Amino acid sequence: MTAGGEYKGLRVTVAGLGVSGVPAAKALHGLGAHVTVVNGTAGERQQAEAAELEALGVTVRLGDGTASDSGPAAGLPEGTELVVTAPGWKPSSPLFTAAREAGVEVIGDVELAWRLRGPGAAPWLAVTGTNGKTTTTRMLAAILTAAGLRTAAVGNIGVSLFDVVLGEQEYDVLAVELSSYQLHWAPGIRPHSAAVLNLAPDHLDWHGSMEAYAADKGRIFHGNKVACVYNAADPATEALVEAADVEEGCRAIGFTLDAPRMSELGVVDGLLVDRAFVADRRNSAQELAETADVRPPAPHNVANALAAAALARAFGVPAGAVRDGLRAFRPDPHRIEQVAVLDEVAYVDDSKATNPHAAQASLTAYEHVVWIAGGLAKGAEFDELVAAAAGRLRGAVLLGADRALIREALARHAPQVPVVDLERTDTGAMSAAVAQARQLAAPGDTVLLAPACASMDMFSNYNQRGDLFADAVRAALPDTAAHS
Ligand code: ADP
Repeated sequence: MTAGGEYKGLRVTVAGLGVSGVPAAKALHGLGAHVTVVNGTAGERQQAEAAELEALGVTVRLGDGTASDSGPAAGLPEGTELVVTAPGWKPSSPLFTAAREAGVEVIGDVELAWRLRGPGAAPWLAVTGTNGKTTTTRMLAAILTAAGLRTAAVGNIGVSLFDVVLGEQEYDVLAVELSSYQLHWAPGIRPHSAAVLNLAPDHLDWHGSMEAYAADKGRIFHGNKVACVYNAADPATEALVEAADVEEGCRAIGFTLDAPRMSELGVVDGLLVDRAFVADRRNSAQELAETADVRPPAPHNVANALAAAALARAFGVPAGAVRDGLRAFRPDPHRIEQVAVLDEVAYVDDSKATNPHAAQASLTAYEHVVWIAGGLAKGAEFDELVAAAAGRLRGAVLLGADRALIREALARHAPQVPVVDLERTDTGAMSAAVAQARQLAAPGDTVLLAPACASMDMFSNYNQRGDLFADAVRAALPDTAAHS
């Protein structure tokens, strides 16, 4: 049973097609709402999605001014009573201005899914942060599964929340990944417990300022019941806990790569230990797993595992299930994925490092690195990253629209590092980048694709960017080369 009755006959405008808009439109249509979808672009994919929705009886307006998230202001579709937006639409979009003027509420797909949960629905364990969300959410789901709980990794992660919330299958608990955009549009969600993994500048062009970005991330803690999990090494995440309005008795739980203080999870002698969810936390700690159980065992990933463990423990999961879940977990592609070793040089694909904070985490996991970087900077700066990694860099190969920003940061903080500027922004540049990196690398080095930038200037997405890197590496392998 769901709380969907109130949507019957409601006139809802869905802003944006794609992974959030299409399932939202279908869910609302299924509940009897009159749905109009508006979308700024009218490419091949959008037309196919529109045709699918129209076949169901949903109205779709492609490519008109109303739908543009930056275009001319235009009215809302006639009679709109609620707007459900794709998370990426900017709050300043003319459609929302029109909605505000008409007194019409604007919510995101996550908020809608939350409102559609039935009585007794599975509680949410929610994860956000600038980096590590998907990994942590999947680790959490693996741990919950190992504990015998019926669960799924959902949210900003490929599985539609609507399918889970409205579907037949019953769940005990959900592992929910939430982006800053989704949180912006989801003021009413109330997780059982939540974690903010870290906070570094990202998407500032969308949020407008670091303060606004942090405030949106911080929404994840509001109304938490059992635990607000923060990163003890990142005071900004703790500040969000302090600012949150939580339920009586909800605890602040830290995670750290050092020995844990009381109410923290941390690391002691190669073991992940819990000094938060144990009876005598003043004097004792519970061993959960070995750091070697975490894949890959890079420090930032051990931090992800601790955050996942903290959420699972907040839900009452036993220690053994944390270990079993971490052992069962398989990282997603393009996240510090070793592609091959060639001439004693390891080639690692971290195409998912789409901002400086992520790239910094992976660069500092290797001793000597030839770094392939560049793309769309999204308003980010590179000084801190380059200064932190300077001692490890054997060389850098730059490509993409905003490569000059990285080149300048290298000149400022690592002038001794040889830099190859490919001066290219075409998709084919990746094989040239790999060839150049190979020249710069010595045995024992790591060639690391950690672009610190988004991929859309050159590639369809970070997957394609990583795949092309891997293809170029494999093409250079002796046996593959013989076949190609
Ligand atoms: P998200 O879903 O937040 O984008 P992912 O788990 O997909 O996060 O990881 C994205 C990238 O961020 C990884 O490829 C890695 O470079 C980096 N990363 C992962 N975890 C962390 C962390 N805890 N701190 C910093 N960077 C991280």
